[in-house]
Amino acid sequence: MLVVMHTNASQEQIHLVCDAIQKMGLSPHPIPGAQRVAIGITGNKEMVDTNRLTGMAGVLNIIHVTQPYKLTNREMKVDDTIVSIGKAKFGGNNLTVIAGPCAVESEDQYVSIATEVKRYGAMMLRGGAFKPRTSPYSFQGLGEKGLQIMAKARAETGLPIVSEAVDTDTFDVVEEYVDMVQIGARNMQNYSLLRRAGRSKKPVLLKRGMSSTIKEFLLAAEYIMSEGNYQIVLCERGIRTFSDYTRFTLDISSIPELKKLTHLPVIADPSHASGKREMVIPLSRAAIAAGADGLIVEVHTHPEQALSDGAQSLTIPMFERMMEEITAITRTIREHNGKMERGGSQARAQAVCR
Ligand code: PEP
Ligand code: MN
Repeated sequence: MLVVMHTNASQEQIHLVCDAIQKMGLSPHPIPGAQRVAIGITGNKEMVDTNRLTGMAGVLNIIHVTQPYKLTNREMKVDDTIVSIGKAKFGGNNLTVIAGPCAVESEDQYVSIATEVKRYGAMMLRGGAFKPRTSPYSFQGLGEKGLQIMAKARAETGLPIVSEAVDTDTFDVVEEYVDMVQIGARNMQNYSLLRRAGRSKKPVLLKRGMSSTIKEFLLAAEYIMSEGNYQIVLCERGIRTFSDYTRFTLDISSIPELKKLTHLPVIADPSHASGKREMVIPLSRAAIAAGADGLIVEVHTHPEQALSDGAQSLTIPMFERMMEEITAITRTIREHNGKMERGGSQARAQAVCR
């Protein structure tokens, strides 16, 4: 349910509607838009009696959101949500790339990769400190020491950092150091972790579960939003299919579908999707052409020595090439769209003159 307020509704009127919703035992979620404020209502098990709200001052109309995901739904908010982390902006007209190694291995390793990816246009740094590894015998990450190294790299480069919280036990320490908390594919349906992320003041990078549908993905984001954290970036990172020549299958078609269904920004992870370095650039091109708001990619100065995911890590020259190519694709699409718009308005002007 969504209460759409008049463009000129006052703060006081918005406040009174929120109060009335609370008195009905429900939760109000005011969502500011470019034109007007809308107030999402959650917590109802059955149809809400809207009579009390329709007559209130400042209320334009009430919309029933038909899908089970409410706050993430475009019906709730037509404008793109823009998640801003320092200068890194996700959503709207921004193309933003997060880059770094799979895992933080040492200060030298991390700071040198951070410096190189910044040089070629990365806006944010990634790195695993607590690693969710398939085998208990694989490198599990440096833990808090890894986060301290990331904070040093942030101080040196000025770029914000994102790292994964693998459980509720370690959420606090990750949250303390990072600018954005990552919830990984294996945890997309870990509801206590999602709720904890929803109570955080830090933005969340939510990765799609490897066997989850789009609806389940959006409902996972809904868990976070329903707790009050609206700063979420979704990440398509590949799903399990019968195809066995790549690690996962990058579901390119999920990108335009998600962009249609939700106002949240959507980025793609071609590294974990493919598991193969040589596929990362072509998949990056495809994801950007399909409308992704950005990418998260693994990069290493010495991928052959990486303690995790070396086979899918780009070398620095490959990262440079990837950045050039996705920038060229974005520029071409924007120029083309600009021409189409100008053509359209010229044609309209001519029609009026005739
Ligand atoms: C990662 O980004 O480090 C990671 C483990 O990714 P995913 O959760 O998508 O497998
Ligand atoms: Mn990895």
